[in-house]
Amino acid sequence: MSATFVLATANAHKTLEIAEILEPLGVVLLPRPPEVPDVDETGETLEDNALLKARALLDATGLAAIADDTGLFVDALSGAPGVHSARYAGADATDEKNVVKLLDALASVPDEQRTARFRTVAAVARPDGSVTVVEGVLEGRIIHSPRGLGGFGYDPIFDIGDGRTLSELSADEKNEISHRGRAFRELVSVLRNL
Ligand code: IMP
Repeated sequence: MSATFVLATANAHKTLEIAEILEPLGVVLLPRPPEVPDVDETGETLEDNALLKARALLDATGLAAIADDTGLFVDALSGAPGVHSARYAGADATDEKNVVKLLDALASVPDEQRTARFRTVAAVARPDGSVTVVEGVLEGRIIHSPRGLGGFGYDPIFDIGDGRTLSELSADEKNEISHRGRAFRELVSVLRNL
């Protein structure tokens, strides 16, 4: 397959991760042009937001565009923070503030009810109007206090089921099992079959 895609993310680390996963397709991946601004993520679902970002980038560049959106869905909180994961602690949210808020919200919730999952939706929007949407999921449990040094976001409080948090995995180990890794590998297999 030979095609050119432009990527919505401006995050260099994510770009590298996605580029590595899409490499087997032999595609050319372009970064978002600096003059194309961030899109307000006003959608009510991850899918809405991924498509919103991909379509905005397609409109701005005329090129097939790839965008993704991720959220942490905690069962005891009816799926919160979900689509609002980045700004869970408010407009001046940081990873640390988000983690503190989540642990507070779960303070009285017993271990067996602390189940949660990360979901990533990746979307492709093409000039012919067609779209492809895929999803990757990682199941786990929210622990009571942060553990581990790696990763970002909610990684230090997300137990992957074997007693380790995502923050205690190497970057390669995380990519192999993560919601984002799974979503983009699924995207590779869907695009291959198109
Ligand atoms: P985004 O859609 O990838 O920007 O993710 C939205 C928010 O979800 C981020 O700001 C993080 O708080 C959280 N998040 C996304 N991916 C991860 C991850 O791999 N580990 C932990 N938190 C994540």
